[in-house]
Amino acid sequence: MQTWEDFLKHPIARIGVLGICDDQNSSFKHGPASAPPLIRAAYNSDSSNYWSENGTDLEAAHYLVDAGDITPQLGEAMVSDIENAVHKILTAGLLPICFGGDHAVTYPIIRAVSAHHKRISILHFDAHPDLYDNFNGNPYSHASPFARIMESGLVERLVQIGIRTMSGHQREQANRFGVEVIEMKNWRDDILLKFDTPVYISFDMDALDPAFAPGVSHWEPGGFSVRQVLHIIQNLNMPLAGADIVEFNPLSEAPITSMVAAKIFKEIASKMVETLPRRKKNAGIFNS
Ligand code: MN
Ligand code: MN
Repeated sequence: MQTWEDFLKHPIARIGVLGICDDQNSSFKHGPASAPPLIRAAYNSDSSNYWSENGTDLEAAHYLVDAGDITPQLGEAMVSDIENAVHKILTAGLLPICFGGDHAVTYPIIRAVSAHHKRISILHFDAHPDLYDNFNGNPYSHASPFARIMESGLVERLVQIGIRTMSGHQREQANRFGVEVIEMKNWRDDILLKFDTPVYISFDMDALDPAFAPGVSHWEPGGFSVRQVLHIIQNLNMPLAGADIVEFNPLSEAPITSMVAAKIFKEIASKMVETLPRRKKNAGIFNS
């Protein structure tokens, strides 16, 4: 990656990379604030190279400039701190890719990105719809960014994929805002995602099955494989306006099997409820 100083002298790069060290709005576990240096180190690791699968050498062509990491202030100032940092990238003529942080960072990022686009849509990968009006009284919770984005009218369409935790309240919110939700249970690999606006990708790491990415705060079994999300990303055919990769929690450990078992239990129990024989009057279930 070009350094920012180098970019100011020789503006070759097209993409501004910003690390966001913030997990103050996480509701369950903390850890995503420490993600950015680890994602950078993995990108630069000698274990692999800088070539994408479609044959682009990201480093040889100097596509990327490193805008560094920010640690936003606590409280509501988080919003303007992140918005300003992304605004700086956009006004330099760069497309932003932000990584690190919990999903609360997406609202301020979209505030900045939508100000630079007449029309924009979001493709949102997540196990969770993140549409709570507030979570435990916090309107900036990582469970609420897409409620803030939609009620502010910042984007034309919000398309959510990977969703497998839809609650009653969030379903009402999705209907209210016209969110296009493709729940994980309805996903097919031949679904083609079509947009006629530039697309911002918001990628919550827990969209992946925790067997593939156990380093997240909320293990939600039954998600995408790495290959499936690569296939989706590689088959997009519209301009991208920016992206974030959030909710990587390096502090999270991985005893996931109990969660898989609990998930299967839940689904079996639910199917059992759905297929319950009608109860005879005055008869218990087991002596009908
Ligand atoms: Mn999320
Ligand atoms: Mn999530």
